[in-house]
Amino acid sequence: KEFRNNVKPNWCPGCGDFSVQAAIQRAAANVGLEPENLAVISGIGCSGRISGYINAYGLHGIHGRALPIAQGVKLANRELTVIASGGDGDGFAIGMGHTVHAIRRNLDVTYIVMDNQIYGLTKGQTSPRSAEGFKTKSTPEGSIETTLSPLEIAMSAGATFVAQSFSTDLKQLTLLIEEGLKHKGFSLINVFSPCVTFNKVNTYDWFKENIVNLEQFPDYDPTNRIAAMNKIMETNGMLTGLIYQNKERKSYEDLVVGFQETGLANQDLSLSPDHFNKLVAEFK
Ligand code: SF4
Repeated sequence: KEFRNNVKPNWCPGCGDFSVQAAIQRAAANVGLEPENLAVISGIGCSGRISGYINAYGLHGIHGRALPIAQGVKLANRELTVIASGGDGDGFAIGMGHTVHAIRRNLDVTYIVMDNQIYGLTKGQTSPRSAEGFKTKSTPEGSIETTLSPLEIAMSAGATFVAQSFSTDLKQLTLLIEEGLKHKGFSLINVFSPCVTFNKVNTYDWFKENIVNLEQFPDYDPTNRIAAMNKIMETNGMLTGLIYQNKERKSYEDLVVGFQETGLANQDLSLSPDHFNKLVAEFK
């Protein structure tokens, strides 16, 4: 309850992002966080507003740049739990360069993408997640580009935590966010979050018909990287659940010299005059 604030979201009635907001608030409470322990950093887009709707530290950043900011926050203060969030246009188009490198860097940040397969805030253009043939104002004859698969990209970039869910499955989504928050490294959680105003193809009913829940495969092993890749491709990227987790690899901040104990915010950065003068002399 303490992660709710008094700001009323201005999303359209029925937007999938409402459930993602609720899931983040529940998951944060369930893992025992307090608002002062959590920072939510978002990009630009309808879903980017989410950082203002959660009672925690928040920063509504710039388009495609939620991840550099979130990683900076984590390095500055590793005692904070950091969530980055935004839409598929924000993270998989302009922000894709950051997404791939954040994945391979493996800082302890939970990245929640609200994937509605369209640009909602700018009133309905094709996103990298839109299907081939998808007709919008920007592609009146249908998109001629292939659809980007964030799960395959994450796996090939060396992700240590990959999950996917559907905004209406609040129970599964909350559990996955909890697992992402507990994971010691970078977590990608892609969430199918329908845009009811501009995407009349990928609707709630369409997702319900096309999603493949990993619960159908009781023998599925999320620690098996090859099996994860195969299942992503077999299901055309429509599977939901915990797809892959590697608990062995250490996070970036656990490996980088000088950050193992604490982040910059809690370090003694005072320099002796001798040290300072020596540094200046080196640059002369
Ligand atoms: Fe949600 Fe779409 Fe409305 Fe944006 S335009 S708030 S994504 S329903």
